[in-house]
Amino acid sequence: MARILVVEDEAKIARFVELELSHEGYEVDKAEDGRAGLELALSTDYDLILLDIMLPQISGMEVLRRLRREKDTPVILLTARDAVMDKVAGLDAGADDYITKPFAIEELLARIRVALKRHAAPATSAAIATNALTAHGVTLDVDRHEVTVEGAPVELTNREFEILHALMANPNIVQTREALASAALGYDYIGESNVIDVYIRQLRSKIDDRFGIKLITTVRGVGYVIRD
Ligand code: CA
Repeated sequence: MARILVVEDEAKIARFVELELSHEGYEVDKAEDGRAGLELALSTDYDLILLDIMLPQISGMEVLRRLRREKDTPVILLTARDAVMDKVAGLDAGADDYITKPFAIEELLARIRVALKRHAAPATSAAIATNALTAHGVTLDVDRHEVTVEGAPVELTNREFEILHALMANPNIVQTREALASAALGYDYIGESNVIDVYIRQLRSKIDDRFGIKLITTVRGVGYVIRD
């Protein structure tokens, strides 16, 4: 059975999560500060880590950064409700997913199953011939994982790339935030999707603002689209 590390300084939450996960058959270890959590995460091969962001000693974000230098253990962040920038920073630092406190245990269990499944069977990259999408002078090369505007390279994070890919692969079709969250965070994504607005802002700053084009259109109350 999968082995899970819970790094959480709020004893009540940690205990509750431990009981529920044990009940589901997971093997659970706990750490109550960032330093202890990082040591365990580096010294033990966990299948998944639940990582609180606000931790004593070393913050959850710093634990994640240091962990990612050495290991790709799946990480689900536990974040505060309004901490949208934390979520984005966490995803960019290599977290697989996040869940907002307080959470329903069923939702946490579902997220854990998705993260474990995705890690066990990483998406196979099909060997298709060079696969490039273009719109408004922007080229997204799927195989090379590169984006250029009129030949000039644009540095995107993996999540920004996946969102842009979802938009460019479906020209003129409005994508809901949920659909974009699924594209960026993994299949059957469930839960809130307000980080998508932050990613769209980042994409606009890196592409639209920098190159003076209007690539991504907001459709109020629905989502986003790239029109050709
Ligand atoms: Ca905390």
